[in-house]
Amino acid sequence: ALQFNKYILQMKPSASMETMAKAKKLKAQDPEIIDLAGGEPDFDTPKKICDELFRQINAGFTHYTVGPGLPELRQRIADKLERENGCHYDPSGVVVTPGGKYAIYIAVRALVNAGDEVMYLTPGWVSYPSIIQASGGVPVEVDLAYEDRYRITLELLEEKVSAKTRMLIINYPNNPTGRVLTQKEAQVLRQFMLNHPDLVLLSDEMYERILFDGQENVSPASFPDIADRVITVNGFSKSVAMTGWRIGYLAADTKIASMAAMLFSHTISCTSGFIQKAAAVAFDCGEEIEEMRRRYQQRRDLFVNGLNQIPGVHCEMPEGAFYAWTNFEIPGMDSNQVCEFIMEKAKVVGVPGVSYGDKTGSRIRFSFAAADDQLAQAVKNIAAAMAQIG
Ligand code: PLP
Repeated sequence: ALQFNKYILQMKPSASMETMAKAKKLKAQDPEIIDLAGGEPDFDTPKKICDELFRQINAGFTHYTVGPGLPELRQRIADKLERENGCHYDPSGVVVTPGGKYAIYIAVRALVNAGDEVMYLTPGWVSYPSIIQASGGVPVEVDLAYEDRYRITLELLEEKVSAKTRMLIINYPNNPTGRVLTQKEAQVLRQFMLNHPDLVLLSDEMYERILFDGQENVSPASFPDIADRVITVNGFSKSVAMTGWRIGYLAADTKIASMAAMLFSHTISCTSGFIQKAAAVAFDCGEEIEEMRRRYQQRRDLFVNGLNQIPGVHCEMPEGAFYAWTNFEIPGMDSNQVCEFIMEKAKVVGVPGVSYGDKTGSRIRFSFAAADDQLAQAVKNIAAAMAQIG
């Protein structure tokens, strides 16, 4: 019989990817389906970036490049992290990968041995537990409480740490809750890291440019006393509408980065050179990025205010990212059932909250990175569906 790797066998299919595929299929059969499942901007990639890509390809920049990334791009990333996030990373600590997801994978892989524990916060992104399991690591959830606005406390962290803990993964602005890391919470994380001098913190800041109402997100790597143990992951997918390009990065102390780069060099070799050249232009797209952010904020207001007027539906105003983490009070239904109900009766597709480790209620994550008329129609349809159950 076929034998499979026991760690890969533990992994679950990505719920958001699965729901996205399902939504695409449904939409092909029924054009009225409104797909709010995907975690992706509906905007086009800024034109300047696309132009640069074609220019590079036409100029023949189509060969292998230096493994961890083009020196000029790594320099620009290090400069950005310094200027915008207050993090001091050497450019040689930057590894450019095909997507932030792969950066997280190689970082975890570089640090985690079989049986090591990796903590992550829930509700949280669907891929962390599977990425941890792929390395033979044991995912340890730290459940944050909805009633406490998903606040990070030292008690919650200390409760889950053990002699086997190698890493803690956090993600702000948060997918799916839309929460932003506050100064106070960042200080809690700092204290936790100081209490445990062998731990590494991975801060996934993929949505860092998508912040609302003047919110500011704190990068833990900006604290000098823990900076050498903080890996910052970021990229272009969400903030620059470049999901399909597959480019992201990690920045870390050079000892950590070189281990991740070692694995990278034997699995991917390098991220496409022309894509790296084009992505560098994203650093000159401040206006385009700000315009997208502004539109997300308008859509958030339209969608979340609309949802909150529906009896039995509640959504906290997201502070960042582009997800409405919505609670449905429908007696006797869990989040999978609510999701099915909303898909059937309202023709709106979201992702069930249970996929993000939510245990408290009937939550669905909807993306509001969709056209205004689609969002307005979704609110109408959900209101009509909810009215049916009275
Ligand atoms: N981190 C979080 C929290 C995400 O939501 C995503 C994408 O869904 C990623 C990382 C991966 O992004 P990328 O497209 O750069 O691989």
